[in-house]
Amino acid sequence: MTTNATTVPAYAAPAANAPLERTTVPRRAVGEHDVLIDIKYAGICHSDIHQARDGWGEGIFPMVPGHEIAGIVAEVGPGVTKHKVGDRVGVGCFVDSCRECAYCRQGLEQYCTQGMTGTYNALGKDGEPTYGGYSTRIVVDENYTLRIPEGIALDEAAPLLCAGITLYSPLAHWQAGPGKKVAIVGLGGLGHMGVKIAHALGAEVTVLSQSLKKQEDGLKLGADHYYATSDPETFTKLAGTFDLIISTVSAPLDFGAYLSLVKTDGALVNVGAPEEPVALNLFSLIGGRKTLAGSMIGGIAETQEMLDFCAAHGLGSEIEVIGAEQINEAYERVVASDVRYRFVIDTSTI
Ligand code: NAP
Ligand code: ZN
Ligand code: ZN
Repeated sequence: MTTNATTVPAYAAPAANAPLERTTVPRRAVGEHDVLIDIKYAGICHSDIHQARDGWGEGIFPMVPGHEIAGIVAEVGPGVTKHKVGDRVGVGCFVDSCRECAYCRQGLEQYCTQGMTGTYNALGKDGEPTYGGYSTRIVVDENYTLRIPEGIALDEAAPLLCAGITLYSPLAHWQAGPGKKVAIVGLGGLGHMGVKIAHALGAEVTVLSQSLKKQEDGLKLGADHYYATSDPETFTKLAGTFDLIISTVSAPLDFGAYLSLVKTDGALVNVGAPEEPVALNLFSLIGGRKTLAGSMIGGIAETQEMLDFCAAHGLGSEIEVIGAEQINEAYERVVASDVRYRFVIDTSTI
């Protein structure tokens, strides 16, 4: 006998741009292949803010954000083989996909041709809205859950489910490693994980931040060099330097200027998701046979690989744990680039 559909406490944005407030949301009954998770911690990703403020459009309200979920298995459906009660588990940015297309079969569920089902702000296959991690419990199909290795504390693990994989995937794909010069643009939630992971992969890491305010932190996180992009000399000094630049910036950026820092045959990979389009002079690409690319989170198998990699290298996120009543204030601080380096909600306060 498994748990019937329930309602659980949550924090939601009732409408676009409205402050988040305490509410309840439905969770489905635990099905054959479902896992009921007691959520312990949920990270605050800048994507939560873009969506709660409807900056990307087509938001579904009320919206319970949260796709950096870490918790403990409370119950499993009869067909579940991957987890048992008491396991430490995570849920990232999606909770379903078509499972049949070429990308789903390759473990690239994030690029599912039918569109993955977002952990929140999406409609599930049952037609019901999905609600994310700013809540106390969630029911997720075991194929879309992750195992959190013992070596990582649950609160420090939560941000890995989005920030960690979003940087791990392009760093792995573009082969960051020994002998490669990698720059990370923006030292926020994504950026600080990029520095840690690129350093652990053996690359020579540079942070390109708006100012030198976080320089000491950046070097401690594993950066070899740190430059302020507000200083025009940075762009002359570093011209043609990098094999790979990853931009994590949440606002429109002058990509032409950053492409001038890429070597011939190097790549600038953007993972930031600003709300407005950007213009680009294509001469900044053709001059050095340069690549401008994008990357979105990572598939389930790669996310597990990332968690195991982080555990093996002792990597977690640098976090500030907050109570649910501080979510709105935390949003303002993230938007002001005043986050060091991820807010994580203690869901026992919801
Ligand atoms: P975050 O913690 O706010 O970090 C973004 C950083 O970008 C800031 O800390 C700041 O770093 C820099 N920045 C902000 N505004 C800037 C501006 N106007 N000019 C230059 N630099 C600026 O946000 P996050 O959670 O890391 O997310 C970053 C972006 O990635 C968001 O747009 C988010 O939606 C997106 N995202 C994408 C994916 C994906 O799969 N592609 C996954 C998750 C998130 P400094 O203070 O160091 O300059
Ligand atoms: Zn995210
Ligand atoms: Zn698919």
